[in-house]
Amino acid sequence: MANTPYPQSYYAASANPVPPRPALQEEVQTDVCVIGAGYTGLSSALFLLESGFKVTVLEAAKVGFGASGRNGGQIVNSYSRDIDVIERTVGPKQAQLLGHMAFEGGRIIRERVAKYNIQCDLKDGGVFAALTPKQMGHLESQKRLWERFGHTQLELMDQKRIREVVDCDQYIGGMLDMSGGHIHPLNLALGEAAAVESLGGKIYEQSPAIRIERGANPVVHTPQGKVRAKFIIVAGNAYLGGLVPELAAKSMPCGTQVITTEPLSDDLARSLLPQDYCVEDCNYLLDYYRLTGDKRLIFGGGVVYGARDPANIEAIIRPKMLKAFPQLKDVKIDYAWTGNFLLTLSRLPQVGRLGDNIYYSQGCSGHGVTYTHLAGKVLAEALRGQAERFDAFAELPHYPFPGGQMLRVPFSALGAWYYSLRDRLGF
Ligand SMILES: Cc1cc2nc3c(=O)[nH]c(=O)nc-3n(C[C@H](O)[C@H](O)[C@H](O)COP(=O)(O)OP(=O)(O)OC[C@H]3O[C@@H](n4cnc5c(N)ncnc54)[C@H](O)[C@@H]3O)c2cc1C
Repeated sequence: MANTPYPQSYYAASANPVPPRPALQEEVQTDVCVIGAGYTGLSSALFLLESGFKVTVLEAAKVGFGASGRNGGQIVNSYSRDIDVIERTVGPKQAQLLGHMAFEGGRIIRERVAKYNIQCDLKDGGVFAALTPKQMGHLESQKRLWERFGHTQLELMDQKRIREVVDCDQYIGGMLDMSGGHIHPLNLALGEAAAVESLGGKIYEQSPAIRIERGANPVVHTPQGKVRAKFIIVAGNAYLGGLVPELAAKSMPCGTQVITTEPLSDDLARSLLPQDYCVEDCNYLLDYYRLTGDKRLIFGGGVVYGARDPANIEAIIRPKMLKAFPQLKDVKIDYAWTGNFLLTLSRLPQVGRLGDNIYYSQGCSGHGVTYTHLAGKVLAEALRGQAERFDAFAELPHYPFPGGQMLRVPFSALGAWYYSLRDRLGF
């Protein structure tokens, strides 16, 4: 059977050591079969194990093989569409519930890191950087909105203040969220997988779910084994393919690319980001960056709709990095990789049940490090019979992309081009 390795990323090169994990080669019985060992699957597994469920995780490749082991590592609160959009779409009651959960994922990550002693270079502080007065106005209303739902630790920054936290002259201001921050994402996933195993959970790698037999007693088939379970959680996100056709219909995998420099000198690293905060700008197609534990700059940006892998990632991302930081012109790029996230038309996550016993969460549309940790908790609550918070997500409406499977990629690219133009022109 093919053995799928990690992509050649900085994260794979600096991963904490892990035990070998077997492929499933037998029939096993469990309470919950989780499909996918990214944050959604691992967070679900951990909350379920802590509640006394027996859990088996099937991973097609390796723990954190998908977006969870490749992302920018930025702990960004709230959702890819904010609470005001939710309020307008579904009304104040549901928005109230979802709004109060909007910062919970970041707290869950910090609890996990502390409780299970996960070594993942956790740092506090995330910056949203505004390039235009319109974006600054948006940050001002975002702060008021988030504070309305009890989320404080936010500071608006003018042009002078933002230069104290990031040495980039493009920004006219920004907002600092001290409950944001950053992590080594693969090491977080690996630490969570170790926590799952420490509680008796079983993780099989190189074990793709290839068929789900639905019904009162569902069975998940892999190439060489099967799992009989009372419940199934589908957590394959952008890497799920066509396993569950209902989930593919209203979502679109998209690629985004990341580069990592060679280690910077202490002086250069400190001059770029003196407090070691992470930064994302407020553009529709945003740039995001931060320092690693060993003082490299990780810089990501851009979106490839439909998730085709670009031939030369460095050629796409390095010019963006140099626009923000011309002082890095002589710095070498050591790693470049791509990863897929799952986009929904509303940009809000898709959560729900298929029948009585198959649960899913997917499609956090680019900002998922915190949401996926919350999703694990909310899914575990629902399996325990407390579904109020699960239902608040499940009731969010979702629509297919315009253009259907054939035209959704060019239509979305056209939309993105329009919004990027607006960012550039500042309207
Ligand atoms: C390059 C990049 C940068 C990003 N940066 C950030 C960021 O800085 N901050 C942020 O908040 N968000 C970021 N995101 C988004 C965030 O990483 C994702 O939203 C989040 O990790 C999704 O987690 P997940 O567990 O749902 O999916 P994934 O991490 O993709 O995990 C899905 C797993 O399921 C497995 N799988 C799929 N199908 C099957 C099957 N049939 N059987 C068994 N296993 C299967 C896959 O192999 C994979 O391991 C970024 C995403 C990318 C790609």
